[in-house]
Amino acid sequence: MAPARLLGSSGLVDRFGRRAIDLRVSLTERCNLRCTYCMPAAGLPFAPDDALMTAAEIERLVRIGSSRFGVRKVRFTGGEPMLRHDLVDVIARCAALPDAPELSLTTNAIGLAHRAAALYAAGLRRVNVSLDTVDPDTFTTVTRRPFLDKVIAGLSAAHDAGLDIKVNAVLLRGVNDDAAPELLRWCLDRGYELRFIEQMPLDPDHAWDRTEMITADEIRALLATSFVLTPDEAPRDGAPAERYRVQDAGTGAPLGTVGIIASITESFCADCTRTRLTADGHVRSCLFSDEETDVLGPMRSGAPDDEVAELWQRAMWAKPRDHGDDTDDLVHPTRGMSAIGG
Ligand code: SAM
Ligand code: SF4
Repeated sequence: MAPARLLGSSGLVDRFGRRAIDLRVSLTERCNLRCTYCMPAAGLPFAPDDALMTAAEIERLVRIGSSRFGVRKVRFTGGEPMLRHDLVDVIARCAALPDAPELSLTTNAIGLAHRAAALYAAGLRRVNVSLDTVDPDTFTTVTRRPFLDKVIAGLSAAHDAGLDIKVNAVLLRGVNDDAAPELLRWCLDRGYELRFIEQMPLDPDHAWDRTEMITADEIRALLATSFVLTPDEAPRDGAPAERYRVQDAGTGAPLGTVGIIASITESFCADCTRTRLTADGHVRSCLFSDEETDVLGPMRSGAPDDEVAELWQRAMWAKPRDHGDDTDDLVHPTRGMSAIGG
């Protein structure tokens, strides 16, 4: 149990001295893709729509986070957040808050072609788009859906709308790993910053296998076949990606930057600044911890902001030190990535 003096404090602090100022809000558990590392092909149960936070409830929690706890960044995710019909309203409400935090969206970009301009107008400034390959057949193998063209259209609409774009890619052995340099060049040519993410044990099929995972070391070696990578000296400021400046291996021409998020082999738990809300309104202090605290139920029963804030602080106080690092202790949580909110 958290000491009373901490519950009167202004932040989301934990037993190890970390303070959470980055909020991830999942907007839905549903998705229009079925990426093999994230969702099963079929059979995943979803919470009913009335169990999900409404736009007004999300706005209230974001306001509590920013006004009481100093949350400075909010990233909307899922499942696929573009499936929320009220997404523009969610963004507009949060952008209109006094001292509004910086708002961003993690999406597979399907449907973004039609909504990028409206999202920018509502106050969104950044998108992280998941794209593991630019080969149509490999895309269909990884996502189990033939929608590469929709993702590419979404990316270019986001670019035209003025959104800052990062691309997230997960490499799978024997599927898309050899094409990592091609994907990087494709992103660099278009001005998108690519970040490779080590595959984490967050698939509900529990098929993740440490020996099959492409490690950060392997990613650097794969990219070194075409590029020279130099570590970026700029401070990481709690950001999960290790950034590198990229030069063409043949000509030496500077091409941009790339990030590697080594969640498993070079874990950054000690510097974690995250707090999470699931789509059904539970605080989750860590991706890898099954401990969740319901704040939506109490809110719907009339709990005032003070009580909601205290529940949130207690949940964060109990945040685990780490996710079991690079050992066999690594926890495989019950909910998969799409249900927690990636
Ligand atoms: N549907 C949106 C998307 O794909 O961007 C948002 C939700 S998705 C769960 C968020 C991010 O989690 C994506 O970049 C995806 O690649 C990543 N992700 C999902 N499962 C993962 C896993 N097992 N290991 C590493 N990253 C994963
Ligand atoms: Fe859907 Fe994103 Fe998971 Fe792929 S990674 S299945 S797009 S939630």
